Amino acid sequence: MQLDGVPMTVSGVGKDKTSGNKLHLNGEYNGHTFDIFMCHFQNGSIQVKNGQTVTAGQTLAKVGSTGHSKGPHLHIETKIDGRAVDPKRFYKMLGVPTVAERERQKAQQPAAPQQPQPAPEAAQQPVSGDKVPSLNRIWEEQD
Ligand SMILES: [Zn+2]
Repeated sequence: MQLDGVPMTVSGVGKDKTSGNKLHLNGEYNGHTFDIFMCHFQNGSIQVKNGQTVTAGQTLAKVGSTGHSKGPHLHIETKIDGRAVDPKRFYKMLGVPTVAERERQKAQQPAAPQQPQPAPEAAQQPVSGDKVPSLNRIWEEQD
């Protein structure tokens, strides 16, 4: 149930008292919308601009504790079609590996040189039909 390849675009960069430094990303695939909200980033650390398309593995900003936060943490809210989805499931669908998975991948190829970054075009190629998740199944699993 992968949705690897959905282009995500920066749709908002800002700062407020509650969230501190914040980022909105969104993407659209097959008539569905995918939204990511993240906040509490370190001052001056956001490395992307409004309208920019981002890819898996790209550094967007540095985890911090700005806004109403009692310690450094990455605050993430993820939605599909405006409905909240567990971020772990959301990122898995978008093909973003977890930190543990990335560490495992690194450990498996210690001598290999750095993998070249995929070309931006590659991230925008349409996803093949059999990779489309059943959103109904996601809701059932979650509720
Ligand atoms: Zn938070």
